[in-house]
Amino acid sequence: MGQQAGNTKELGYGGYTGSSNTLYCEIKCPKCGTAVASGIGFKVGVVGRLSYKLGEALKWEGTETRPENRPKDVTLKTIGYFECDNLNCETWQDCYPEVQEALITITANVIAAAEPTTHKPNHIGFDIIEPNDVT
Ligand SMILES: [Zn+2]
Repeated sequence: MGQQAGNTKELGYGGYTGSSNTLYCEIKCPKCGTAVASGIGFKVGVVGRLSYKLGEALKWEGTETRPENRPKDVTLKTIGYFECDNLNCETWQDCYPEVQEALITITANVIAAAEPTTHKPNHIGFDIIEPNDVT
């Protein structure tokens, strides 16, 4: 996988990693500070282009789930990806916005929060941060 820094044009997370789910919510762009209504790509529960909003429960009935087995009612934190829709934002270069990272918190299977974070810029891994025995 080893995405190299400087190779940012490859970072469109949609095509790069196959299908992911989308969380639609408002999130603050870390570069310009604008609250953008964005779609945050993430991979937990059934992975298959599902759309969610904050407060909704994840679905687990499907062929491809991540993690493979639904965790018991723990707090799960995962990295998602979004783009700033403010055309004047410095993230926009060559007509494409840079991908930003979001930390999504899932409490007892319900999407509780999403906030901008810095985890591994230039690496799209959809990492699960917590619990740390889940990948
Ligand atoms: Zn921005």
